[in-house]
Amino acid sequence: MPLQPTLKVAEIFPSIQGEGLRQGEPTIFIRFSGCSLRCSFCDTKYAWKGGQDFTAAQILEKVEKLRKDFPADWVCLTGGEPLLQDLSELARLLRKEKLKIQVETNATIYRKLPVDWYSISPKPEKYFTRPEYRSEAKEVKLVVAKSLNLRVVKRLRKKFPLLTPLLLQPQSNKKWSIALGLVLLTKALQAGLKNIRLSSQLHRFYDLP
Ligand code: SF4
Repeated sequence: MPLQPTLKVAEIFPSIQGEGLRQGEPTIFIRFSGCSLRCSFCDTKYAWKGGQDFTAAQILEKVEKLRKDFPADWVCLTGGEPLLQDLSELARLLRKEKLKIQVETNATIYRKLPVDWYSISPKPEKYFTRPEYRSEAKEVKLVVAKSLNLRVVKRLRKKFPLLTPLLLQPQSNKKWSIALGLVLLTKALQAGLKNIRLSSQLHRFYDLP
């Protein structure tokens, strides 16, 4: 029998979605190893390297095991940068189980997958996003890093349809970042920008992974 392709996985765990518009929803997270960027503020640096090899079927098995005690309807494919790896077979299997799928990506890579929710988070310094996300992204999360400024917010607001919200998310819920987010929101409002929102990391508040 031919060997099944494997995916590098850092961890699989149940939690709530702490970020973005899906905030608060029970979710099984599959964190993939490897990232195309090296953000200084990254809070998942442990996922940049290494990881365990699992086939898509083995990952599904682990998800189903977790769902016995934590029957979440959503699965979030995250990282690192999950789209460095071909997740099509896994997405197909998850969908077959009628699970809803979210992908969290830094938006430097695009893969067309049968998923419900692309959550993109463009990163400094370039805040580059692949053009496909203009129509595919359900939300644009911006970490309020020290380098984030109104010029970047304006550029991204222009790039995405008005119905796609831009969320200003404090860096690790730090006080200076919360304050900067509020300043940026006010400046954005004064500049006439629409659908910009403040956000937070709910899982930190609940001390969840
Ligand atoms: S893109 Fe995300 S996972 Fe990758 S280094 Fe930046 S914050 Fe970390």
